[in-house]
Amino acid sequence: MYKVAILGATGSIGGNALDVIARHPERFRATVLTAHREVAALAELCVRHQPDLAVIADTSLEAELSRRLAAAGLRCEVASGHAALTAAAEGGLCDTVVAAIVGAAGLESTLAAARAGKRLLLANKESIVMAGPLLLEAVAVGGGVLIPVDSEHNAIFQCLPDQSRPDQSRPDQSRSGGRPDLRARGVRRLILTASGGPFRGRTRAELASITPEQACKHPNWVMGRKISVDSATLMNKGLEVIEAHHLFGAPVDAIEVLVHPQSLVHSLVEYLDGSVLAQLGNPDMRTAIAHALAWPERVDAGVTPLNLAACAPLAFEPPDLATFRCLALAYQALRAGGDAPAILNAANEIAVEAFLAGALPFLSIADVVEAVLAELPAQAVVDVQTLGERDRVAREAARRILRNAC
Ligand code: NAD
Ligand code: MG
Repeated sequence: MYKVAILGATGSIGGNALDVIARHPERFRATVLTAHREVAALAELCVRHQPDLAVIADTSLEAELSRRLAAAGLRCEVASGHAALTAAAEGGLCDTVVAAIVGAAGLESTLAAARAGKRLLLANKESIVMAGPLLLEAVAVGGGVLIPVDSEHNAIFQCLPDQSRPDQSRPDQSRSGGRPDLRARGVRRLILTASGGPFRGRTRAELASITPEQACKHPNWVMGRKISVDSATLMNKGLEVIEAHHLFGAPVDAIEVLVHPQSLVHSLVEYLDGSVLAQLGNPDMRTAIAHALAWPERVDAGVTPLNLAACAPLAFEPPDLATFRCLALAYQALRAGGDAPAILNAANEIAVEAFLAGALPFLSIADVVEAVLAELPAQAVVDVQTLGERDRVAREAARRILRNAC
């Protein structure tokens, strides 16, 4: 029986993870649930899933959470604040952690779970984008395993060789200095698919007056607002290129993005002999989550089986990097190396927040990210404290650029 902590239980990934867990009470139990401020939603989840511990990040809401749980007759422990979140991620109530907090806010708890040797099911891509080498080192030191939940990376993980042998299949392990050598394993390229988002095929002029509501309406996936905007700008794919680089030890030139509007092929691995393996399925995050939860076994995820005969023809096209500049900026940051991806991520988080608040035009998200990258040349990633400071400086720069632009 796996004891699972869901960090970000009230979110889209959190809800899907709980759905899979509830289908297999003999295999999994949700022992820890956390949320930022959604106290009513968290209390409801506690009633349904009966965890041992509920953590609300906003300390001002702890009393209300306790009151709601007591009123429901639950004997669930309650805690609040970021230290409690970290303690929950590394504590003995769980052996598995679903890292499903959105943004840099998830870094500390993800790192804590890795250091503590948990089975780390990683959805929070921002943490590996920011701190790739530090996170992989923490997994190696902790002796746990990292299984990607992001659908593209989960697909690649499934298509890589020797998945049944834990010593080779952990993306965090390697015989060559902390990273698996992909070429030695016969791999030529990783191909990440992208739906293209809601604005695929649009021109820059057509994107000038996009509203947050339009940007959050993804054609194939229902997701949180931040990742929905990232999908619309293609920054999400850019973050995923960086994520793939770290997870699979792939050089930047061996990672390609391919637009596939149907979102049925979740990514592909090309081998030296010309074979290309793909993972397919309906666009439902429960597949990747169930795969990661049960790995190396397989369980029912509640997902509608794929009926290829009834699907529209599968289409593929190259991404439009001139219109969707965020993807090009992410490649640029990855090539620059060091903490440039963390700078990119921080600037993007601030710009997306401003866009969602109606304070920044859609196309200017890329302008803000580009300006911050230009202002803060890459530095080596030393430790998490230095990284946190650079994240703060990048956010400040982004806010200043925003103020000057308005
Ligand atoms: P969401 O906005 O739906 O949920 C985010 C969760 O994080 C919520 O439970 C919220 O309470 C919590 N949270 C937010 N800020 C916090 C803070 N400061 N401190 C503590 N908790 C906080 O987001 P989501 O769509 O579920 O995405 C979660 C992560 O998974 C993101 O990193 C995203 O990129 C990644 N991801 C999501 C999907 C998807 O289909 N939704 C797919 C792949 C990867
Ligand atoms: Mg993805």
